[in-house]
Amino acid sequence: MTIINCMLPFGLVKDFDDYSKIVNDILKHDITFNILKFSTGSNGINLLIDIPEDKTKTITESLKQNNIVVNKKGRVIIDDEKCIDCGACISLCPTDALHLDKEERLKFYYEKCIGCLLCLSACPRFAIEEM
Ligand code: SF4
Ligand code: SF4
Repeated sequence: MTIINCMLPFGLVKDFDDYSKIVNDILKHDITFNILKFSTGSNGINLLIDIPEDKTKTITESLKQNNIVVNKKGRVIIDDEKCIDCGACISLCPTDALHLDKEERLKFYYEKCIGCLLCLSACPRFAIEEM
């Protein structure tokens, strides 16, 4: 599984149907995929998508041909100095990379993190950072 962020710049959005441009392009490749997050930002429409590892190159090239900006996501790091072990980030993680241990301290399993960034906005202390 690979997480990519696809961004359709606002300049290319002419009507509502354009929003589905990203999804339609990926569907051409006859794969199953997960949409982890849909958001709009100052730059455009963003979709965080989980696609099969072996299709990453083909799909990325295809999206880029349609002027969709694609970034492969990295992972996150937890700043232990800022973390207060509140656990707010845990339930959002789709891969169980975040846990509280017996002492109620946050444990982060780096190897399980797929960089989806769903936990980022949950942290009240801004202790989670994108690498
Ligand atoms: S970015 Fe956060 S929510 Fe996503 S897999 Fe990594 S630890 Fe879990
Ligand atoms: S949400 Fe932030 S402060 Fe709370 S456990 Fe997670 S990383 Fe630590």
